[in-house]
Amino acid sequence: MVEKVYVTYNQVHKLCQASADKILNDFQPNLMIAIGGGGYVPARILRSFLKRPDSPNIPIQAIGLSLYETLTTSDPVETPGTKVTRTQWLDFSSLEISNLIGKNILIVDEVDDTRTTLEYAVKELEKDVETAAKKLGRESERAIFCIFVLHNKDKPKKGHLPQEMMEEGRYLAANSVSDVWICYPWEATDIDEHDRLATS
Ligand code: 5GP
Repeated sequence: MVEKVYVTYNQVHKLCQASADKILNDFQPNLMIAIGGGGYVPARILRSFLKRPDSPNIPIQAIGLSLYETLTTSDPVETPGTKVTRTQWLDFSSLEISNLIGKNILIVDEVDDTRTTLEYAVKELEKDVETAAKKLGRESERAIFCIFVLHNKDKPKKGHLPQEMMEEGRYLAANSVSDVWICYPWEATDIDEHDRLATS
């Protein structure tokens, strides 16, 4: 039986807060891409901490990637799938992809488990932005990707991120945990019970 760890909204908020300075100083993102659904809330919280006076809010774009199939509705522990499916992606026909060319882009998700999802997101986004840049004759403008997750599970990873990304410190996990199952507050149907379990 996998151990479950309950994380509260308050803890999520503080994990974002604790990472914001480092993200601002080391990376200065121009925009965020939240991987749905777990990346949405952390990205929104982070945006408040990344806001500088006299600068506009950092825009958040969303992609949806799915790796896990829920087996039952009552048990939050899910079984890993083997392949990533796009449930939502950036639109090539609009400005969405071309807006990424030459930018510092922060990819936000809640947890890095097997790393399969993050590998997919980085590879596919890099590829799509490069294609868009070529099309527009802007090959010299490279998009730089950085990753932020609330939790990294300290375990052997199936997915791999670009070596230079790791070497250049463009991967940031607010917290490192063992191979437990983390229950996030936005998944709770009874938030009082969730918070009670988090403190028990
Ligand atoms: P990975 O591709 O790293 O194996 O998994 C990424 C996705 O799996 C996460 O974005 C999340 O949706 C789901 N996942 C993996 N581990 C956990 C966990 O401990 N708790 C929750 N709630 N979701 C998880």
